[in-house]
Amino acid sequence: MNAIRVVFPSTVNLLCVWHIEKNILANCKPHFESQEDWTTFLSTWNQVINSEDEQAFNQALNFVGPLYKEKEKVLCYIRNTWLPFKERFVHAWTENCTHFGNRVSSRAEGAHAKLKQYLQVSTGDLHQVKNKICLAIDNEFNEIKTQLSSERIRVPHKCDNYFFKELITNVSLFALRELLKQYEMVKYGTMRSTCTGHFMASMGLPCAHKMISWKGKVIPLEEIHTQWRIDGRVLVVPEVGETNGGEFKRLVHELEDKYQEWPLSQKECVQGKISQLINPSIPLVLEPNILPHKGRPSGSKKGTTSTRRNASKFEIQHESVAFVEVLVIIVEHARAKVRQM
Ligand SMILES: [Zn+2]
Repeated sequence: MNAIRVVFPSTVNLLCVWHIEKNILANCKPHFESQEDWTTFLSTWNQVINSEDEQAFNQALNFVGPLYKEKEKVLCYIRNTWLPFKERFVHAWTENCTHFGNRVSSRAEGAHAKLKQYLQVSTGDLHQVKNKICLAIDNEFNEIKTQLSSERIRVPHKCDNYFFKELITNVSLFALRELLKQYEMVKYGTMRSTCTGHFMASMGLPCAHKMISWKGKVIPLEEIHTQWRIDGRVLVVPEVGETNGGEFKRLVHELEDKYQEWPLSQKECVQGKISQLINPSIPLVLEPNILPHKGRPSGSKKGTTSTRRNASKFEIQHESVAFVEVLVIIVEHARAKVRQM
């Protein structure tokens, strides 16, 4: 959080509500005798988190205090550990920021788990790790391209009406489903009487209240946040420019075909040579020699190749799965991809 404040000063840094709940479970549940008491406490806490404005938040807190006044340790934990960060997880504040529905860190964790499948061990050298990460990103990139092409031709049955005319095939399926939920609230009259503005602010999509004002017209495409727009998105890596002479082209193609069959070491060697041909000032960079080392530093664990970080308190107690830090290197590679687009 300290780093984000410095590096991305205009960014809103939310906290994962799933992890907060897990930590509350680990720290507070032992103070409750019965499961029923615990469940009641948890639902009261959820009311605090789901408060729609500051007033509702204060009311919910004023309710919790006297109710659990005998459980000083629980109240202390909540007060000191979580309440100082209320703007990062309580709806009254978080729903005014454009988080596109991400209130938990599971997407980042999913990406991390996928990356770990490629990395396999924690002992790869920088070159191996870099190659595996690039492979992971290339594969992911291709998957996204395939999904995008399929979304551009699909029209969800329930959206096949005049109101969605401008949006179908131009907006992602996820966003269409979210819009459909709002549309059905209008249709069945199940929406709230007043608009909090939270849905539009957090999702970048028009809410049920806004839809009413467009009755008889179509939902305007420009009301959809660019996050959900798939019409203008071109995920094509530019082709290599035209070359002079068919022979040169033929040689390059032949080289490319053979290249696919070569072992990694040969590929690297050829890459180095080509780089040198293109830019003679670039020195040929090869994998550094691995020097024999003097053994493991004292105190380090024996023979571990695990990529798992140290567990949090709730994970030690519940043997739950590990969660993540996102590697800067992935972001850098992804950025390079986007620049190519
Ligand atoms: Zn609304």
